[in-house]
Amino acid sequence: MAERDFEIIIIGAGPAGLTAGLYTARSKLNVVCYEKLAPGGEILNTEHVEDYPGFELVGGQELAAKFADHAMKFGLKIEMEEVTEVKKDGDDFLVTTDMGVRRCGAVIYTPGGYPKKLGIPGEEKYAGKGVSYCALCDGAFFQDEVITVIGGGNSAVEEGQFLTKFGTKVYIIHRRDQFRAHAVLVDKIRENPKVEIITDFVPEEVVGDDREMKKLRIRNVKTDEAQEIDATGLFVFIGFIPNTDLIKDHVDKDEAGFILTDQNMETNVPGLFVAGDCRSQLIRQITNASGDATTAAVAAEKYLEAQEEAKKAAAAAS
Ligand code: NAP
Repeated sequence: MAERDFEIIIIGAGPAGLTAGLYTARSKLNVVCYEKLAPGGEILNTEHVEDYPGFELVGGQELAAKFADHAMKFGLKIEMEEVTEVKKDGDDFLVTTDMGVRRCGAVIYTPGGYPKKLGIPGEEKYAGKGVSYCALCDGAFFQDEVITVIGGGNSAVEEGQFLTKFGTKVYIIHRRDQFRAHAVLVDKIRENPKVEIITDFVPEEVVGDDREMKKLRIRNVKTDEAQEIDATGLFVFIGFIPNTDLIKDHVDKDEAGFILTDQNMETNVPGLFVAGDCRSQLIRQITNASGDATTAAVAAEKYLEAQEEAKKAAAAAS
């Protein structure tokens, strides 16, 4: 078997990848982290973070830079290369990037995912200035404000319910009159006096001033009637796409396409560990991405140690 270039390769430098990098580099393992854009992942698109312990309020980009600097301080190499293939080769993995093929003993897969966007005018302009894709991250910024929520699945209904903790009123706007969400959740939200459900409407434009969103324009899909809602918040829950492409043919996934792992963050493929937003789990937060990546890093190290022990035992026996 050819020599390994690295003991561990981490794919994706978001909070999960950078945490796995910190722990593995600090353990003096020969590790590299490949990232196709810039270190930070989804938090680079987050204006403010106020739920990461120890930081009462921190800019997403600032927190991303701190994660990367901290991991690099322990010797993590972060290479700006796009991974195009991950392949098992005996006990090893072959990881192909736009710069070449590298061999390693274990892979920690942390490329995250992304929320589906509406693609309407104003959505991008007011992202972080009214438009959000994460209620747990941003809900508290909308205390005593009017909030709109788009979607009719479990996320829209559950997150809409959660947002009533903050908003004076929460409009749930869905493009049909039938909900994809569990009936029990829909029944519960209908009883909430702060919630108004608007069906058969789609969002058409986010309108605001130089600073923030002020209104949402919506249109009835049956009558073509247009309406405007005075709201300073728009939460979009129309689906989340996990970045599973590189390993999707090898690993077990849940019915929504997220990767299943055991409690050590190991997939059904030995030596392939997953943490962060592409993993099947209850929530997608920086805290649990980091926590799960810590587990993945330690478990990957133990996996490599066990592999080494097994090889030595086999050599001694032969
Ligand atoms: P989802 O179930 O795919 O629902 C997406 C919703 O957004 C649907 O109602 C869909 O409408 C609507 N939609 C899609 N594209 C749209 C567009 N361009 N404009 C307006 N509306 C649009 O997604 P999700 O709610 O994020 O849930 C994803 C998965 O996680 C699901 O399997 C869900 O069951 C699971 N989940 C489970 C729980 C739980 O069990 N507690 C909580 C959260 C999520 P249509 O219905 O008309 O297609």
